[in-house]
Amino acid sequence: MLLRELSEALGVSGHEGAVRELILAAIKDLVDEHHVDALGNLIALKKGSASVSRRAKRTGTPAKVMVAAHMDEVGLMVVFLEREGSLRFRPVGGIDERVLLSKRVLIGDNKVPGVIGVKPIHLLEEKQRNQVMRVQEMSIDIGASSKDEAERLVKLGDYAAFDIPFAELGGPWRAVKGKAFDDRAGCAVLIELLKESYPFDLYAAFTVQEEVGLRGAQVAAYSIAPEIAFVLEGTICDDLPKRRDVSPTTTLGGGPALTVMDRSVVADPRLVDLLVDTAQKEGIPHQFKQPGMGSTDAGAIHLTREGVPSAVVSVPSRYIHSPACVLSRDDLDNTLRLMRATLARIQGLDLNR
Ligand SMILES: [Zn+2]
Repeated sequence: MLLRELSEALGVSGHEGAVRELILAAIKDLVDEHHVDALGNLIALKKGSASVSRRAKRTGTPAKVMVAAHMDEVGLMVVFLEREGSLRFRPVGGIDERVLLSKRVLIGDNKVPGVIGVKPIHLLEEKQRNQVMRVQEMSIDIGASSKDEAERLVKLGDYAAFDIPFAELGGPWRAVKGKAFDDRAGCAVLIELLKESYPFDLYAAFTVQEEVGLRGAQVAAYSIAPEIAFVLEGTICDDLPKRRDVSPTTTLGGGPALTVMDRSVVADPRLVDLLVDTAQKEGIPHQFKQPGMGSTDAGAIHLTREGVPSAVVSVPSRYIHSPACVLSRDDLDNTLRLMRATLARIQGLDLNR
């Protein structure tokens, strides 16, 4: 899988071009049609065989299936250039301020390197040690000594992404670390799914701007008008550090996480049942994501047009929305296995109520 390249590509919400180029190069020979829509979603069609599509029309079996993964990642935006050359910024998407200090970032299309400055511990007053520094007080140091100098390198509105190399960590579940596994893990699985053939029309949607409000998925689903949808995600994995008396949202190495309900969607029970039944039949490890947490593109997709039965399958990722995340290659492989096997059984699904 292309996970390393996908993780290291920069694509803060609204600026997903580099990720899209990478994905397009990987899928263009695997699909029958593809286009980039007005908002920047990459939508690809893998046509099913016509005879099955005709049969599907008679039986109520879905003939048009959407599988989505979002290309964007959380990051920062430059909002002010200080007189002495440092850059003020704001988060794009949900970021905990505590993960930002002293991190390396790459700014704008020229990938100008910078570091988010931190006050040396020697100079911290007692009170400051116990306080979380607010993002409004932080700035990015790019080595410029004046506003003019900084302006030659960056401009207002430039995006900054975390600068973290991908690496294999190993261990029993073949752990890897890198940034943006939410949702480049989903993108990696979706690319692999396009290597198979399907009896139905498979629409792959690599969406934009999920992290700022499920925006790309909303228009992608409208134009595709699918009968059912699967959303592939990288989701919260909080099994480390261990908390007492609280079961984690998902566990690393526990296999793909199935959503029953999150803040944005109640997953279609028929699709959840099909996923669980398929996992059991195929002996694929899987787990349920603790209900109620997070939201995904399914939140926008299932409310499209007259409604789209939707389900979410996620690769657990520790420390998501921070510069360095950890996931298990076993979980990634098992997510692909589960999706492959489930899509192979879609013909048996009857959507009539
Ligand atoms: Zn996500």
